[in-house]
Amino acid sequence: MARVVVIGSSNTDMTVRLPRLPEAGETVLGGAFTTTPGGKGANQAVAARRAGAEVVFVAAVGDDELGRQALALFRREGLDVSHVRVVDQTASGVALIFVGDDGENMIGVASGANARIEPEDVDRLPASLFRRGDVLLTGLEIPHRAAVAAMRRGRDAGMIVILNPAPAPAAASPDVAELLASADVVTPNRLEASALAGISPRPETDWADCARRLMAKGPRAVVITLGAEGCLTAEGDRFDRIAARRVVAVDTVGAGDAFNGALAVALAENRPLAEAAAWAAAASALAVTRPGAQSALPRREAIDYLAR
Ligand code: ATP
Repeated sequence: MARVVVIGSSNTDMTVRLPRLPEAGETVLGGAFTTTPGGKGANQAVAARRAGAEVVFVAAVGDDELGRQALALFRREGLDVSHVRVVDQTASGVALIFVGDDGENMIGVASGANARIEPEDVDRLPASLFRRGDVLLTGLEIPHRAAVAAMRRGRDAGMIVILNPAPAPAAASPDVAELLASADVVTPNRLEASALAGISPRPETDWADCARRLMAKGPRAVVITLGAEGCLTAEGDRFDRIAARRVVAVDTVGAGDAFNGALAVALAENRPLAEAAAWAAAASALAVTRPGAQSALPRREAIDYLAR
């Protein structure tokens, strides 16, 4: 079985639906309140597990009820959580989300325990976790220096290292060069790709050129996800444009996480990049046909069926 190690964030998303988003200082009475599991790391770990891999999730939660609920859920999904750290006297990560009736949203994240993942924690992980041929997937909802430490360990062990650079670091951030140089495959969406390349995204942006600029900074491959327009894969001199699957989208939240989790599994199965991205496009298309983030993530049989 393919094996994927995800080092990333875990949050609880608390969402209030409102007729419209409030102005600063204003209170707007709203409708339904929902609490759902989230965090890009957790979403991607569940995505990879449902897509058929053995998954080790390395993360941090607080010593609180939300942290205990998250751990129980990860176990139910079949993730290996032996390296999820419970941080004393620290809250679990929480995202507070307002969604207006027009679909617009406003999000504030209290990173909590996610911000406490240190490079030293990564350095202390056992060598047996990092194995040649497996995939390591990480992102930027944890401290950048921890993501870099994770990628270094993956690289040293001969793993395929994927960086999902979300949320995008500021183009001027001194971390950008080190982050890009530490990954084998980088998977930004349009906004993240533009920020990393130092360009402004426009309808006429040449994404192949943008991918070329990113590869010049270190990664051997880049996959730019383009929402309903699919994605562009770039590896050396080879560029492939992969169309999105045509589906009726009801909720695109978590599309990128579904894509990254499935891409990691396909690369761990040694599939070529363009084929892996086409399979990930099928996984993310299925995810957008259902509401929610983790609850919408598809299982392998469904992905295989759509990808035929
Ligand atoms: P999010 O932040 O919502 O999780 P993202 O911005 O990281 O998403 P996108 O580029 O929007 O990522 O989407 C990732 C992939 O999901 C796309 O490459 C595409 O394959 C698939 N996808 C997204 N939206 C649609 C859609 N409306 N129909 C079919 N596939 C879609």
